Amino acid sequence: MRTEVPPTVRADTAPQPLLAGEKSATEMFLVKLFAVIPALALAAAVPLAWGWGLGWVDIGLAVFFYTLTCLGVTVGFHRHFTHGAFKATRALRIALAVTGSMAMQGPVIGWVADHRRHHAYADREGDPHSPWLFGTSARSLAKGFWHAHMGWMFQRDMTNPARFAPDLVADTDIRRVDRWFPALTAVTLLAPALAGGLLTWSWWGALTGFFWAGLVRVAVLHHVTWSVNSICHMIGDRPFTARDRSANFWPLAILSMGESWHNSHHADPTCARHGVRRGQIDVSARLIWLFGKLGWATGIHWPQPERLARRLKATTR
Ligand SMILES: [Zn+2]
Ligand SMILES: [Zn+2]
Repeated sequence: MRTEVPPTVRADTAPQPLLAGEKSATEMFLVKLFAVIPALALAAAVPLAWGWGLGWVDIGLAVFFYTLTCLGVTVGFHRHFTHGAFKATRALRIALAVTGSMAMQGPVIGWVADHRRHHAYADREGDPHSPWLFGTSARSLAKGFWHAHMGWMFQRDMTNPARFAPDLVADTDIRRVDRWFPALTAVTLLAPALAGGLLTWSWWGALTGFFWAGLVRVAVLHHVTWSVNSICHMIGDRPFTARDRSANFWPLAILSMGESWHNSHHADPTCARHGVRRGQIDVSARLIWLFGKLGWATGIHWPQPERLARRLKATTR
C-alpha cells in the first residue's frame, strides 16, 4: 500500500515537496539485489561452512569491518549528519561519510533525508518506514513489520533531499562522497578479500575473506540497522514520552552499538548518547566522547539530567 501524505500535514512549514521523483528501474533492481543476495548468502552458508572455510582471520576481518562500518552509520550518518549531535573537523566528517557509505545502506544524502523524514513524521503518514501504517490486527502488524524492516526500500518514492537535507546538498565534500557510493560499495566488498588474501597468502583466504567479512558482514549489519526501524518501533520499553511508538530493545544494544535505545533517541533526537540511563551500553557515544578528547568533535550534545527528568514518564521514575 502506498502512503500518501495528506496536504494538511505541515503544509505551512513545507515549502519543498516531500518526494523528489522516482527511482529508476536500474536503481530498484540494485536495491533488491544488494538487499537479498547478502541475506541469502548468510542463511545458506553458516551451517555449511562452520569448521570448513571459516577461520580466525575471517572472523577477525568480519569483526573489524563490521565495527568500522557500523560506527560509520551510527556515529556518522545518524548522530552527526542526520541529527547534528556534535560538530566534526573536516577530516572526521569525510571519514564518517566514507565509512558510513561502506555499510551499503545507500549514499549519505539519501540516507539522511529518509531518516530526517522518519523523525518528522514518526509513525504517522509520511514516515518512510513505520510498522504502524497498516493497522493493528496481527495480519496488519506482520505486514507492518516487513514494511518497516525491508519492504519500504522497495518502494519507488525518493525522499526529497532539497527539503530534508539541504545542508548536505550544499556541502561539496559530502556531495563528492555521495557520488563515490558505487566505488565505496566495491571497496567494502573487495578490501576484506584483499586483506584475507594477504594475511593468509592464498586465493582461498581472499575468497573466504570476501564471503565472511564482505557479504556476511554487510548482511548482518543490514538486518541490525533495519531492526532498529522495525523491532525498535514495535517491541521494548518506553520509559520516555515520545510522540511515536519508538522503544528501547536491550538485546540489540551491543550489535547496534547503542542505536536500539531508540525510545530515548526519539525523546531527545539531537543527544549524542542514546543509552542515557544507568547500565545502558552505548559504544557509539563512547567513540564520540573519544573524538571529543582528541579535539576532532566539538559542541557535543550530552544528556541533560533536567531535560531527561522532564521527559521520563511518571511510572518509570
Ligand atoms: Zn525511529
Ligand atoms: Zn534518529
